[in-house]
Amino acid sequence: MADLKYRSPRGTSDILPEDQPYWAFILETAVGLAEVYGYQRVDVPIFEFADLYIRGVGEATDIVQKEMYIFEDRGGDRMALRPEFTAGICRAYLQHGMSNRPLPVKLWTAGPVFRYDRPQRGRYRQFHQFNYEAIGELDPWLDAEVIDLAWRFYERLGLKDLTLELNSIGDGRCRPAYREALRAYYRPLVDRLCSDCKDRLERNPLRLLDCKQPTCWALSEAAPRSVDYLCDECREHFAGVQEWLGRYGVPYRLNHRLVRGLDYYTKTVFEVQPPRQGAQAALGGGGRYDGLIEELGGRPTPGIGFATGMERIILELKEQGISPPGRKLPVVFVAYTGEATRLATVGVVGRVRAAGFIGVHAFGSRSLKSQLRLADGLGAGYALILGEEEYRQGRVVFRDMATGSQEVVSLEEALSRIRRG
Ligand code: AMP
Repeated sequence: MADLKYRSPRGTSDILPEDQPYWAFILETAVGLAEVYGYQRVDVPIFEFADLYIRGVGEATDIVQKEMYIFEDRGGDRMALRPEFTAGICRAYLQHGMSNRPLPVKLWTAGPVFRYDRPQRGRYRQFHQFNYEAIGELDPWLDAEVIDLAWRFYERLGLKDLTLELNSIGDGRCRPAYREALRAYYRPLVDRLCSDCKDRLERNPLRLLDCKQPTCWALSEAAPRSVDYLCDECREHFAGVQEWLGRYGVPYRLNHRLVRGLDYYTKTVFEVQPPRQGAQAALGGGGRYDGLIEELGGRPTPGIGFATGMERIILELKEQGISPPGRKLPVVFVAYTGEATRLATVGVVGRVRAAGFIGVHAFGSRSLKSQLRLADGLGAGYALILGEEEYRQGRVVFRDMATGSQEVVSLEEALSRIRRG
């Protein structure tokens, strides 16, 4: 291993066949829910013009400022690998005039996103998100519906003991005063802050609230709370979200230190936390972004979204001992016993596959013993052994791999027994 010439880059991973059932399980569950909540699929490019994410300086967040993969393409344009989905989807919403569709426009997507982060458990440089966006509606009922969708998603996966955390961080009207209150609180404490927080204090003080350095974390407990600075509209909206959540029967916990890693959020923010990990390891999160579409050049348009990291869900499924549903198709191994049946294998495997089963066999010219070993290794439930004599009579040796019992039957009979299971 040590002297391999090429390795995958740090923070990326290969998704091997044995992990694919987890991915399929999560994706099927997420798509199934998206559909019944009225979401339609959209796909956006993996790279965009970097300016789509870097919209002016000022409040810029770490994700945009420090973690983006930016490159100049051969035409001299500055591009970025997407660090998240929302900006790309909102761009697509504007570019394709989706505001003419019935609102809210509900869209889902899934795929890799890229952040130059410090890799560790649950934190990678290429990771995968499943993402829902609902654009064009301000009603707090929609916030609750999106949160309900997120909650039901984890529930359907079978995950237990999760916590839904909720906060409101206000909007362009009330947040400046809140930000100022945070700066005023932290300025006298600046010497005790970590270097990142010192750096963020003037630029983006909200982020100080969720810094996990022990001293910063302790100081944030007594920091001013955004809910105490909300304007009337944001306060009413937040009360509405909580009321609707009650109707959906989604349990939540208010967390006044919950802020999100991207700068466009307004009003509602939420995260879903696993039972045993620190707040850095949220399974998913989202919130409202009522100013984003206008910032991208559109008419003022509210929106709300939710993203969940697939890798973190898999870690949590494994942690909780939840296995994805097993492979459904039976594996049928076809074994030859001589030259004539070796050539006939092609036709028999074809019949097996046409019947909808996984048809496999050995290549080359191998002994029956070695073929059956291979059948075991491939997880075959059944083997069809083509004895020269039986095969001439249109029959095969039907072997149940689990018990080793064998019987000579017609190929049709063998296939219908496999179908019956
Ligand atoms: P965010 O876009 O930062 O709100 O992240 C949404 C979700 O994506 C998180 O709750 C995680 O599940 C996942 N996520 C974010 N960053 C990473 C990362 N570096 N590695 C793996 N998953 C991540």
